[in-house]
Amino acid sequence: MQDILDKIAEEMALRTDRGKVADYIPQLASIDPDQFGMAIVLPDGRQFSAGCADKAFSIQSISKVFTLTIALGKIGDAIWSRVGREPSGDPFNSIVQLEHEAGKPRNPFINAGAIAVVDAIMMGHKPKETLAEILQFVRFVANDESIFFDSRVAQSELLHRDRNASLAHFMASFGRIKHPVENVLGAYFHQCAIAMSCTQLANAGLFLVSDGMNMNTGVRVVSPQRARRINSLMLMCGHYDGSGEFAYRVGLPGKSGVGGGILAIAPGKASIAVWSPGLDDIGNSKLGTEALELLVQHTGWSIFGH
Ligand code: GLU
Repeated sequence: MQDILDKIAEEMALRTDRGKVADYIPQLASIDPDQFGMAIVLPDGRQFSAGCADKAFSIQSISKVFTLTIALGKIGDAIWSRVGREPSGDPFNSIVQLEHEAGKPRNPFINAGAIAVVDAIMMGHKPKETLAEILQFVRFVANDESIFFDSRVAQSELLHRDRNASLAHFMASFGRIKHPVENVLGAYFHQCAIAMSCTQLANAGLFLVSDGMNMNTGVRVVSPQRARRINSLMLMCGHYDGSGEFAYRVGLPGKSGVGGGILAIAPGKASIAVWSPGLDDIGNSKLGTEALELLVQHTGWSIFGH
């Protein structure tokens, strides 16, 4: 496993076309695109890593997997009256479908869907308690108390909130957001601003590898049925309008973020996190996708076989 990872990291170091870093906030625009890290955690807890796998980066939309898991834990299937479960085929921050579909986002992983999910989590909580709950959950699944919110990123997201604020207000106009929009956005921007390393992220995904149970800590996080369903949503919707391409090239449930991270789950085999800040045209990590493509070629881990 370590040899495979080293080979992939070597190969990635040679790549000259590394995509473009996200530039909608200065904290992401100023990241050095030459970085690459990858970590793999096996069900028994054995870990392998390469490159800067221990450097914290902004997980951004990868957080949507964790908030969906929290929301399902709180309100179960009632979440599906607020968001759908279909791929959107549209960019992550698109507003067009919302008008056609009466303010109900297509899935929990596009921005509108994640905003609706965090609104559901806020029920019965003060905004600060929601932030604490999200961070506590991520620390719990990663089995790592050192994970933190990067408050500069959260602040910057807030300053540049026009598009996400539009999505939230538009949904509110259909009566689909129950809390004050500013509070919901505050929670959403904080979840996006969680900073984690590849190693921490791969550990956080471990419960999705073994039917909802973290075999390393012996803690059950969700039921087998729920883990299977979260994985299927990641496969169909985890890369926005690039989800089909990711399934074709990699064939694993995965969730990307504009910080350049990808969490990928090989059910029964491993949790994998990769980070390279340069993005492709759709907003998914360019080298991250290429590295995962190489990994499944070497391991045969695609859920669709060799
Ligand atoms: N903070 C980003 C946004 O809301 C998250 C998008 C992403 O990671 O894909 O626009």
